[in-house]
Amino acid sequence: MSTLVPLNASEGQLVNFPPVDRWEDWTEYDPAAWPRKVEKHYSLIPTICFNCEAGCGLLAYVDKETREIRKFEGNPAHPGSRGRNCAKGPATINQVHDPERILYPLKRSGPRGSGQWERTTWDEVLDTLAARIRKALQEERRTEVMYHVGRPGHDGYMDRVLQAWGVDGHNSHTNVCSSGARLGYTLWQGSDRPSPDHAHARFILMLSAHLETGHYFNPHAQRIIEGKMAGAKIAVIDTRLSNTAARADYWLSAWPGSEAAILLAMANVILQEDLYDRRFMERWVNWEEYLRSEHPDTEITFDHFLQAIKAHYATYTPEYAEQESGIEPGMIVDVARAAARAGSAFASHVWRNAASGNEGGWQVSRCLEFLSVLTGSVGTKGGTSPNGWDKFAPAPYIRPAPQEVWNELCWPKEYPLSHHELSILLPHFLKEGRGRVDTYFTRVYNPVWTNPDGASWLEVLQDEEKMGLHAALTPVWSETAWFADYVLPMGNAAERHDIMSQETHAGSWIGFRQPVLRVMRERMGQPVQWTYEANPGEVWEEDEFWIELSWRIDPDGSLGVRQYFESPYRPGEKVTIDEYYQWIFENSVPGLPQAAAAEGLTPLAYMRKYGAFEVARDTYNLHEKPLSEQQIAGSEIDPQTHLVRKNGEVLGVEVEGVPVVGFTTPSRKLEFFSPTMKAWQWPEYAVPTYIKSHVHRDHIDHAKGEYVLLPTFRLPTLIHTRSGNAKWLYEISHTNPLWVHPRDAERLGLSAGALAKVQTEIGYFIIRTWITEGIRPGIVACSHHLGRWRLAKESGGNRWSTALADLQQPEPGQWRLRQLEGIAPFESPDPDSDRIWWKDAGVHQNLTFPVHPDPISGMHCWHQKVRVERAGPDDRYGDVFVDTNLAFRVYQEWLQKTRPAPGPDGLRRPLWFARPVKPSVAAYHIP
Ligand code: SF4
Repeated sequence: MSTLVPLNASEGQLVNFPPVDRWEDWTEYDPAAWPRKVEKHYSLIPTICFNCEAGCGLLAYVDKETREIRKFEGNPAHPGSRGRNCAKGPATINQVHDPERILYPLKRSGPRGSGQWERTTWDEVLDTLAARIRKALQEERRTEVMYHVGRPGHDGYMDRVLQAWGVDGHNSHTNVCSSGARLGYTLWQGSDRPSPDHAHARFILMLSAHLETGHYFNPHAQRIIEGKMAGAKIAVIDTRLSNTAARADYWLSAWPGSEAAILLAMANVILQEDLYDRRFMERWVNWEEYLRSEHPDTEITFDHFLQAIKAHYATYTPEYAEQESGIEPGMIVDVARAAARAGSAFASHVWRNAASGNEGGWQVSRCLEFLSVLTGSVGTKGGTSPNGWDKFAPAPYIRPAPQEVWNELCWPKEYPLSHHELSILLPHFLKEGRGRVDTYFTRVYNPVWTNPDGASWLEVLQDEEKMGLHAALTPVWSETAWFADYVLPMGNAAERHDIMSQETHAGSWIGFRQPVLRVMRERMGQPVQWTYEANPGEVWEEDEFWIELSWRIDPDGSLGVRQYFESPYRPGEKVTIDEYYQWIFENSVPGLPQAAAAEGLTPLAYMRKYGAFEVARDTYNLHEKPLSEQQIAGSEIDPQTHLVRKNGEVLGVEVEGVPVVGFTTPSRKLEFFSPTMKAWQWPEYAVPTYIKSHVHRDHIDHAKGEYVLLPTFRLPTLIHTRSGNAKWLYEISHTNPLWVHPRDAERLGLSAGALAKVQTEIGYFIIRTWITEGIRPGIVACSHHLGRWRLAKESGGNRWSTALADLQQPEPGQWRLRQLEGIAPFESPDPDSDRIWWKDAGVHQNLTFPVHPDPISGMHCWHQKVRVERAGPDDRYGDVFVDTNLAFRVYQEWLQKTRPAPGPDGLRRPLWFARPVKPSVAAYHIP
């Protein structure tokens, strides 16, 4: 969305964006003064959005008179978002001025979860935490300090902090999000994400409902639209009629979990009709390795490879795919041929959706990438590249050595191939006595509400034996923060420093998030020592918090921690936040010092001015980059694998006599055949395969009222916990009814708006029915973005977005949540709080889901087999009931499906796989 603004109030001309040279003093008429023409003068300060991982640019409009932020618009200088945002970007202003925000550090003054809090000081917080962590390090309890992050919103900062402490304590939200897609992409290309070049594609195939709700929503959405306007056709595989599917040329409403079968049927069409890109495949697929391993008696020629895979996939006929998915064969053939006709300009994407819903969902990304490989569209203009080509994470100054320990609470032996931590299993591991957590940070992370089986989280969060101290770092109240010992207010998009980069298109950039009011003060010649001095209340920024905490953990440097937090410019003294970023911009971002010098600026001043920098463009075909003379000198080429090695290190691969960089897999080729899967006990999945889901149609009996519940889809205007403080967003979206097809509604006796009871393996929830043909018959769906709750009338949750609820535990392990009041007007300094007209807060469904960790990727398989019926006389809207004893049993059942480490050489995990905060090689070996 771009905004037309007056170029000059007195001239009355309109332009898309204020020109950069006028950001220091930008004039607009005050809309509140209309019809009078009252000029307002603004300082425009760039930052980046903190509401999803896309990292879009924002421009904060700071009133020069009052020094208040008045609004946020897009930053036209940002190469990823190019001045455009989704609704969540401008709604940052709501988050800044949220009348219920947490402004000071709070400490619990009653039992955990009692809701009794007292204000404390940052000094007290830091000293308490530092003493505990120092003791843990001194006693070599280096797996008892854990940092559990929701969306990071930064690139690499915390890795450095945790490695400086020498702990293996990084935990993430990844396995409720993207573990499935990541594994499928990793196996092919090394990089765990795709980077589609939508703008130049001739055909786009998406399984992410991407245009409306995907990972890089706005930057991708605008480029998908550009591609479509230039003539690209779009196909969407999504059981539900998403906004994207509604605009597509083909909508394939598949039975959930059957997507890989459809994709393999498309691959089969391309193979049988000889529509593949032979030259690309011959050069870049590890077909020789496949034949050597799986067809050892066959002469190694590319034609034999083609014969072998044609035979292998021949059973995936469009008719077979129809049987699995319900999609008519003609549609599958049409899409396959259209994709092939696009040649090397076939772009594809899956992130969550099917890859995150199903057991075996990781094969969805693997089978989708198979189509990109067959069409020769990997790394091409209009194709799909590895994300590593289009994301640039600059290195910080002095890197600590990798930690020497391995944390089995995050990386258990049962899941050696997971992407990444088995975060959802932490409560069960703690209950089983696999370890304890001494000091636990949740950082903008709300597992009680976001994760499946939240009641098991409630149980361990209240158990001081299992969780010694819990500090919640968060800009907003959350269901989880309520059960913490400390609630520490952290800044939002306009109140913190971070660097971000994402693969938004065929190019790379960095964005710089800034504490806007601090920058404003500095522009006015008023230096600030700590960001919280300029932010509202004592809201701090994490970067400075971690520097100060680390310093207090090791004040004399004897633990070896302090050295990493000393200034690179003033030896022995504490680094300032300016120095931290100054060093990175001066030393780690190619081209930035020169661009800054051209404007007579330092690199830091340049980034403060523009908020973003373009590092590279047109990043195509990087795998074909020849090795340099220097790299080749003294290297050896393996006659069988063609790998180029020097001093034991693989530098690239020889292709048709030319040593080139290749991909980041062990073979440096695109691995159709995965020796890793074979070596790690999953030989049946060594090539792209369809795995029948836990919600396969064979498991569902409609006669018994059984359905598949799709709980994964998003509302494009909301973002889990962190949008709860944005009134505009909740005014737009505040209900999450159960999508039911008219035929099913009739069968179930459900009328529009009637209450339905949805029973899972461990409990149930009560929700209103929405009858729609936008869902496949036999499937029901419910967005996971709503159903927020709070346990006290005036605290513990934003009243724009949470229902007041009563939480009871009638029997050990049994939890009953009942909504007492929906959304209602309330008094606050914001007059809008008295004008709230919506009443619904939605229904929380995730509490009723047991954990379903995919045995290989570790992804929580979100889809549920449920029983749907009309609600009973005692059921009320929003009721939730769960039994954690049953939840524990389901956890144990899924654990049985795994094939634990060690793998080859006694390893816990393949060394070439990515791992956040990677430990030393020694730590990979199981003692
Ligand atoms: S797409 Fe994400 S980063 Fe961009 S404006 Fe929307 S919420 Fe913010």
